[in-house]
Amino acid sequence: MAQPVFKRILLKLSGEALMGDDAYGINRETVTAIVAQVKEIVNMGVQVGIVIGGGNIFRGVAPAAEGMDRATADYMGMLATVMNAMALQDAMKHAGVAARVQSALNIEAVAEPYIRGKAIRYLEEGKVVIFGAGTGNPFFTTDTAAALRGVEIDAEIVLKATKVDGIYTADPKKDPTATRYDMVSYDEAINKNLKVMDATAFTLCRDQKMPIAVFSIFKEGALKRVILGENEGTRVMA
Ligand code: UDP
Repeated sequence: MAQPVFKRILLKLSGEALMGDDAYGINRETVTAIVAQVKEIVNMGVQVGIVIGGGNIFRGVAPAAEGMDRATADYMGMLATVMNAMALQDAMKHAGVAARVQSALNIEAVAEPYIRGKAIRYLEEGKVVIFGAGTGNPFFTTDTAAALRGVEIDAEIVLKATKVDGIYTADPKKDPTATRYDMVSYDEAINKNLKVMDATAFTLCRDQKMPIAVFSIFKEGALKRVILGENEGTRVMA
């Protein structure tokens, strides 16, 4: 049987990934489908940390936040990610996957606080760790939280799940001649403005030489293929 090429990964799921075809919120079927993909790689022995976004519920820079203090709106966005983390943990429990939520904001009645050592211990025990509340700081994004937690937990790679199955030379929906990059360097991604992640997240990955895989979570088996080192999605590395 093919063996995983990574022992420990950090998976970044956007809030939108949980919406399915809905306009807002959490779509149970979609969450269940994502959990099934994660379960597959957990069963292969891969240690999985997840940073979940909140854009399906609230975004600090969204029109809904207009007129609010940015910091207040951002804290609301972080709370939204905690709701998503709880939904994901619940779906994992139903699928028989042991998972823990750790929150960067202290809300102990619903989630334990982020403690790096404890998170690593859970990972070593084969439990999925879902990191909620982003970095715990306003003016950041969950992409940055993914880069940060990825580095902190010594993940070998950050997997950025998107709707498109990698990075393309142009928008594949608009340009039929667009082709997918198998691999790009950090510098190429910056120079060509490929928008892999926001600049803060990307810079952290580049400085720490943390490779990034961009792939589609909606493509059947794609997550597993990335883990097996097969030609899936786009790899960003030095
Ligand atoms: N957020 C924040 N600090 C963080 C992470 C998130 O303030 O470290 C807020 C911010 O308002 C953001 C929202 O939470 O817009 C939801 O996160 P994000 O937009 O990254 O979610 P995604 O796009 O992945 O669904």
